[in-house]
Amino acid sequence: MKIAFDKVGATPKPFILTQDAVHFEGSLAKTGSHQIVLEGKLHGSMTLECDRCGSAYDQALEESLMLQISDRVVQDKEDLDIIEFLDGMIDLMYVLQSETNAFAGDYHFCPTCAASDETLEIEF
Ligand SMILES: [Zn+2]
Repeated sequence: MKIAFDKVGATPKPFILTQDAVHFEGSLAKTGSHQIVLEGKLHGSMTLECDRCGSAYDQALEESLMLQISDRVVQDKEDLDIIEFLDGMIDLMYVLQSETNAFAGDYHFCPTCAASDETLEIEF
């Protein structure tokens, strides 16, 4: 799902998209000539692999998100999450995928491991 940068105005433009079991909904609003703010949330569930025992499990997802989007290269990225779409097209699926990838890249345990004693040793 792509939205042209120029089509977004100061009035928040709502969007919703779904990938697998993850729903991504929110709005886009222009806050400057080269700046759009995305406010939204991710909810649903995704399949993750436990970093301890390696088993796959479903993780419920509930994440609020606030990003700045620009159609030009941003020099000062200190204070905010900024995504650049230099071709002027905001690719919301790309945003969704990078967020879920970041989430999957975190260190996480399955419910069984999370509930077990920290000092438990894995037997092979
Ligand atoms: Zn586990």
